Amino acid sequence: MESLKNFLLLGPGPSSSHTIGPYRITQDFLSLIKDKEVTFIEVELFGSLALTGRGHLTDKIIEKKLLEEGYRNKIIFNIHKRILPHPNTMELRAYKEDKLVFSERYMSIGGGSIKKVKNKKDKPVELYPFTCCDEMKDYMSEQHIDDIYEVVEKFEDKDILDFAINLLKNSFNTIEKSLQYEGFLPGKLHVECIAKYIYKKASQHDNPYDKKQLLISSYAYATSEANARGELIVTTPTCGASGVVPAILYYAYKDEEYPIEEIAKAFLVGALFCTFIKRNASVSGAVHGCQAEVGSATSFAAAAYSYLKGLKTRQIEYAAEIAMEHFLGLTCDPVDGYVIIPCIERNGIAALHAMASYLYAKDISHFKESQISFDMVIETMRETGSQLPTTLKETSLGGLAISYKKHRKKRKAKYDLGV
Ligand code: SF4
Repeated sequence: MESLKNFLLLGPGPSSSHTIGPYRITQDFLSLIKDKEVTFIEVELFGSLALTGRGHLTDKIIEKKLLEEGYRNKIIFNIHKRILPHPNTMELRAYKEDKLVFSERYMSIGGGSIKKVKNKKDKPVELYPFTCCDEMKDYMSEQHIDDIYEVVEKFEDKDILDFAINLLKNSFNTIEKSLQYEGFLPGKLHVECIAKYIYKKASQHDNPYDKKQLLISSYAYATSEANARGELIVTTPTCGASGVVPAILYYAYKDEEYPIEEIAKAFLVGALFCTFIKRNASVSGAVHGCQAEVGSATSFAAAAYSYLKGLKTRQIEYAAEIAMEHFLGLTCDPVDGYVIIPCIERNGIAALHAMASYLYAKDISHFKESQISFDMVIETMRETGSQLPTTLKETSLGGLAISYKKHRKKRKAKYDLGV
């Protein structure tokens, strides 16, 4: 398993595989051509990058980087090529006048991670001596370790806690700023930002249960709306699903007054659980649908919060497992390719589901031995994801994306007829 530092990234929204990944790919390509004489760069996007790249701002982020570095450029959306090394593939070509001088093909493999197609089989540096949750538990029992954070501390750099605190401060700052925001999200869907109003509604509630649910929802909306505006976001584990983990941890910080150091330890433990998903399945919506993004984020949040609340390792695993189990099969069908509908509301609901998963782990796990392990649910997610049709994996060719279009047409027809 890789370092958590490769997993938790800070970068521009609204999609880790469609903005952070392509941004890092462009950076890498520019480093490869820095000694060459280049006058023009052509970028060709394939698969999900081509089908939803406009709504996900992929072209904007690449163009901005290339222009900043002084390169004229052209971006091509190739939606026809179907046989690809990865659903998020991209090729960059550097020209001197009209002569090709260099080219490279990359894959944006999810959560902002990238790979060159020709190095597809290269394995990342493995830092941990285990690759799944069962192996981690065996390791902990062999080493007589009870606290999962001790495992993180043992294998990561000395500054890992400061690294996590810094990311959390960024996330919390994003929530606080976004709770003040008034206006509409970019794009033609004309969706208004409502985190501020949800927060206000929460503050007016006398019922503590409703208040808590609405507060958490407002925090999730705040991050997800900032993400949809293309602001800087922490991949938890992706940008599209970035509302869930910060909502739960900000609630612990602001409303339950946990110290940031404690929250940072819980954040890293949650991330460790989520890396099992990345390692053994995927956190990319284009590969396994939204179960891989929002489902993974919910497992991350449920594990983090359960750790913060002092649950035992088997209960933390249970929380992470049920969080994913009940999102199995969740499709990725963003309307018009924007990370807005269903994404923002889904982050809010998922944050509440993470809280419910914690509650089950705390209060129900005593009555029964869980029949489903976290590793088992990851394997199921991977199999389910591979059976989902491409239309339901970040292509905007199926599901809500299509129903919404159909109904929009009907509404427009009625409006034109004056009905
Ligand atoms: S539906 Fe889920 S996976 Fe797809 S873009 Fe939205 S948040 Fe990401």
